[in-house]
Amino acid sequence: MTAAGQAMHFQTRAGQQLRDAVLQRALRKARPLFVGKRARGMAGLAADGLDFESLRSTAKNIRNRTLADLDVWLAIFEERATASGAEVLWARDGEEVARLVVDLAKRHGVSLATKSKSMLSEEARLNEALAAAGVRPVETDLGEYIVQLAGEPPSHIIAPAVHKTLGQVESLFAEAHGRPPVDRGADDIPVMAREARAVLRQHFLSAEMGISGANFLIAETGSAALVTNEGNGRMVTTLPRLHVVITGIEKVVPMLEDFATLMRLLPRSATGQAISNYVSLLTGTKRPGDLDGPEKTVFILVDNGRAKLLGSDYQDMLRCIRCGACMNHCPVYFALGGHAYGWVYPGPMGSVLTPLLTGLDKAPDLPHASTGCNQCGSVCPVDIPLPELMHRLREEQVERRLQPWPERLALGLWGGLARRPALYRRATRLAARYLDWLAEGSGRIRIFGLAPQWTAGRDLPVAAGRTFHELYAARKRD
Ligand code: SF4
Repeated sequence: MTAAGQAMHFQTRAGQQLRDAVLQRALRKARPLFVGKRARGMAGLAADGLDFESLRSTAKNIRNRTLADLDVWLAIFEERATASGAEVLWARDGEEVARLVVDLAKRHGVSLATKSKSMLSEEARLNEALAAAGVRPVETDLGEYIVQLAGEPPSHIIAPAVHKTLGQVESLFAEAHGRPPVDRGADDIPVMAREARAVLRQHFLSAEMGISGANFLIAETGSAALVTNEGNGRMVTTLPRLHVVITGIEKVVPMLEDFATLMRLLPRSATGQAISNYVSLLTGTKRPGDLDGPEKTVFILVDNGRAKLLGSDYQDMLRCIRCGACMNHCPVYFALGGHAYGWVYPGPMGSVLTPLLTGLDKAPDLPHASTGCNQCGSVCPVDIPLPELMHRLREEQVERRLQPWPERLALGLWGGLARRPALYRRATRLAARYLDWLAEGSGRIRIFGLAPQWTAGRDLPVAAGRTFHELYAARKRD
């Protein structure tokens, strides 16, 4: 598919999302909740004698220090994880992840796999691969469970079903759980959660394989750190006899102390909590005398385009700790929802990461899905300059001639004019008259032809009817 074709798809998806009244209602409700919770969480830092800016500077340094010697920390992680009884495998891309997990499932006689939230398994389209191999994957994070019932991908990295209304969830539950639909109100949410829990419990008890992501890998101890608000993470990682952890290579941090520092920021940035309900450090396998735990633990550490960002203009993006704060504060995300972004990662971080991991030619519109307000950059707990990275991607699009041809033509014409002052003055005089004529006394300008979308949904005020040079000359004469 051409770059322009992909761009059309983003624009088409965005248009559909904007016209979806139910989606818009769900999004309108969610945004102030996220923003308010983070603000209260950050205000709570002061009570601990901390402040956001100094903490994020420390967090940024931890992530930069790790990335500077990523190969070393990964080697240490592998050595310590192996010493504690786990196996460490490496995957170049999503296909290799799927192949490794399916192979493990076959070797261990797995027919049912429970899953805790893992965005990397979305990158690998793991559920499809497992189902094709005869293994039933069951998402157990409540939001993930809802979107799996709906046959949709997550639309947010920490709140996968944020785009669903209560009524939609009730319909999905009624159909999946084989009962008549009920009229629900917000007070019924705990009832619905209990219903999902009763269904999921059967799966927790019978799954032979548990699949999870990891928020961090800790090199010092060879452990995976898992941060969740639901008990499902612990069920998935301790009840089945085989536990597979799938995570990106950039998730490693050197020491437990570094993890503790990052944990001051991660839950506060994500949900405003000082600490998440469950923070688990998973090391090795079940030892003699342990009541639970997997007999086999396998880490699959995935590149899928990350290693090539090291040392590039985009290395800063690898600092991301997947808190979701950038999308929670983004006016574009909350106008469109996550599905408009077309791949695993939505919002500002997705607008940078998706082109970097899948190819700029495959996601040409995403670096433009921004108002430039820098809300994302200002809340990012590891100080990733998201707007700057989007600008850099746009520059690269120009350098590699990836923009749609009308844009290239328009910029080429403008460049040609700008290099010829006399011609430029004549052309801008004509353009000023033309814009005046377009307004036709209506008070606003509509652009037709190549770029009608510029004025389809917003007003372009009437121009002065004369160029800046003409107005300046007239002012000097007066
Ligand atoms: S880019 Fe920053 S704010 Fe966005 S998810 Fe990553 S760490 Fe959080």
